[in-house]
Amino acid sequence: MFERWRGGRDSLLRRLVFAAKARCDCGAGFAYDKRAARPVWDCSSILLGDALLAGEASVSAHSRPCEYYELVSERAPAAHGASTRP
Ligand SMILES: [Zn+2]
Repeated sequence: MFERWRGGRDSLLRRLVFAAKARCDCGAGFAYDKRAARPVWDCSSILLGDALLAGEASVSAHSRPCEYYELVSERAPAAHGASTRP
């Protein structure tokens, strides 16, 4: 059960594209799922389920999601290799 959950989290982590520098108010980097039809930046802690596990599900602790064009991706040349990936 635990191993299955870890595998799920790891594969999700590989699927996420992180923001170069932008972070949520909770300290986790913004990220989006590259398989999403319409990518939107959201708190990676929420996407990975870490926030729920830590009991920090209150919306006030996290920044609002951003539109895709609002943030620089870790994959963008302008990021110069910077990433908020944990
Ligand atoms: Zn957050």
